[in-house]
Amino acid sequence: MKKLNILPINVEDVANLIINDYKQQAKKELLNANIEYLKDFETEYIEKANQVKLFEIERYNEEEVVINKKLMINYYENRFLLENSGARKLYDEILIMTKRCPYCTIGTVKTIDHFLPKSYYPYLALTPSNLVPSCTDCNKGVLHNYPSKAEEQSFHPYFDDVESVIWIKSELMISDSLFFQYKVISEKPQEWDEVKYQRAQRHFNDYNINELFSLNANDELNSIREKSKDMFYKNKDLLKEDLEDSYASCVSALGLMHWKTIMYRELSTNDWFLNGCEGNDYLK
Ligand SMILES: [Zn+2]
Repeated sequence: MKKLNILPINVEDVANLIINDYKQQAKKELLNANIEYLKDFETEYIEKANQVKLFEIERYNEEEVVINKKLMINYYENRFLLENSGARKLYDEILIMTKRCPYCTIGTVKTIDHFLPKSYYPYLALTPSNLVPSCTDCNKGVLHNYPSKAEEQSFHPYFDDVESVIWIKSELMISDSLFFQYKVISEKPQEWDEVKYQRAQRHFNDYNINELFSLNANDELNSIREKSKDMFYKNKDLLKEDLEDSYASCVSALGLMHWKTIMYRELSTNDWFLNGCEGNDYLK
């Protein structure tokens, strides 16, 4: 997951632009009358997100309606999303924060994801801290998902920083050929508590990290196979040095938790691979 710095805009900014856009007085007034209510929810959301307690936020309850769910979703879909509307410029500002999806770090940003889904939390539909630029797979994949306890709260790009600790590893596997698979490391990182470790597992599963990372790593492995074999047969120390160099440049250019960095960490320390895969001719 990639950390993003939240933009300096709040739900009041979004609501005011939507109010300006509407011609219908009734819709203007309704949103205007509920700004304080939405601001309270925004404050609570930020507080709970920081404390990993988003599960404590109340879900939409038909019987205790303050602001109608349909109306909130209407404000989002028919105004915030609307091309050329006044509020759309804030939507676009969120959309262009990053080109890569912060959840999976692989996909391209195409949409905005509600971290707490608007179907259960309609009063957070316009709240910028709940709006995360995302690829379509990550947006659809965890649709209607919400945490019911701290351990189920996957990492939030605005509130969690998980890029400086190693929490994913790759393993070199053999079947007909060599391939990589990715896993959350089997022991909790020292810097983390148990809840954060469980959240890592949740994030890893929810966003299909193994599938996405291994797809890329296996292409990379195929592209360096011949070169690695040549190096090994010329001088096996050269192969180790080359892989260590690749690892070091990945760490500085891409960060510790990039799929490529994780892959080269494994290759450059895997004695079986460094010793020519025990004469298996790199298992062509
Ligand atoms: Zn994604």
